Amino acid sequence: MGTLWDSLWINLRLATMASNGRPYGAVEDGALAIRDGRIAWVGARADLPAGDARQRHDGGGRWATPGLVDCHTHIVFGGDRAHEFELRLSGATYEEIARAGGGIRSTVAATRQASLEALIAAARPRLAALAREGVTTVEIKSGYGLDVDTEVKQLRAARALGSSAGPRIVTTFLGAHAVPPEFAGRQSAFIDLVAGPMLDAVAREGLADAVDVFADRIGFTNEETARVFAAARAKGIRVKLHADQLTDQDGAAFAAAHGALSADHLEYANEAGVVAMAKAGTVAVLLPGAFYFLREKQMPPIEALRRAGTRIALATDANPGSSPALSLLLMMNMGSTLFRLTPEEALAGVTRNAAAALGLEADRGTLETGKAADIAIWNIARPAELAYWIARNPLHQALRAGRPLEQGT
Ligand SMILES: [Zn+2]
Repeated sequence: MGTLWDSLWINLRLATMASNGRPYGAVEDGALAIRDGRIAWVGARADLPAGDARQRHDGGGRWATPGLVDCHTHIVFGGDRAHEFELRLSGATYEEIARAGGGIRSTVAATRQASLEALIAAARPRLAALAREGVTTVEIKSGYGLDVDTEVKQLRAARALGSSAGPRIVTTFLGAHAVPPEFAGRQSAFIDLVAGPMLDAVAREGLADAVDVFADRIGFTNEETARVFAAARAKGIRVKLHADQLTDQDGAAFAAAHGALSADHLEYANEAGVVAMAKAGTVAVLLPGAFYFLREKQMPPIEALRRAGTRIALATDANPGSSPALSLLLMMNMGSTLFRLTPEEALAGVTRNAAAALGLEADRGTLETGKAADIAIWNIARPAELAYWIARNPLHQALRAGRPLEQGT
């Protein structure tokens, strides 16, 4: 009398992304059993223990990977910035665009104006685009409200995008994204609002899985960030940081010193900071879409990250201003072409390490017994194809908790 599983998949080639001494943690001719939405057994078919399953599936020799994780997005926002893009390419300067009400201020104004329902409706197709590529977990940040009510509204919209059959949603409070117009010249007073009433309101409704800050020359100082982080810590909420994107602000070391889950961007991060991140377990989230769209020249310190053993994740950073990107597969390609990551590093960056950037590595990110049965099955001959193709989506099927992922429209 063997075990009874809910479903059993055979004839799959598994890129488990767990460490088994082989590239991609690969298992040829694999089998995978699912019970109660979790992986009950995974390994070579030859080793499959005796058991029965309510449903049996033949994978047809396809490759299966962990469901992809997009660990850094801003997909809930009002309006868009396509017109600004057009103006810029017609020769308008940043200053002219700003004077015409463009830039992040236009997104803040549109997000404040939008109803909760309108924000949800606008974000749905963005989420669906990610899901169509086998993304089963999506992190969504606030940060376009910059007042108490709109930050809460944005995070409520993000939570409302979650369902039991669609991608899992993780929310991050990014009240310290930019200084809103009504606080111009009073940045410190704005931080008082973010770390006080704003975070209180967000935490009261349990709307934030993490707290993030945009720290940079044009963002917030390390001292201001520390105030937000202290408030988060007092509420038992983990922190993340937009760090060292435009200049070296010692953001990597700062994030590590505060036990951040991740430091994101990192183009200008220094070597000591990268080493500190490895020691602290802080994940480096690289965002090639923003690097590409802003036509940046400074590469993140890939060699230093490798030397230090810092875990590297990749994400879309989907947002209307600097990365209107809704393809995590394209980010894998850009991670390899622009940042010179190996295809295996790129895949680890959207599975195992992306889950770690959200503090979810015990639950997701690899195909291992006990983890959520979030799985993507692909029409590819080798895993490197996921980083190789440009604008080809080879997804055959995605599972969320063992069931077909609802991709939405
Ligand atoms: Zn971002």
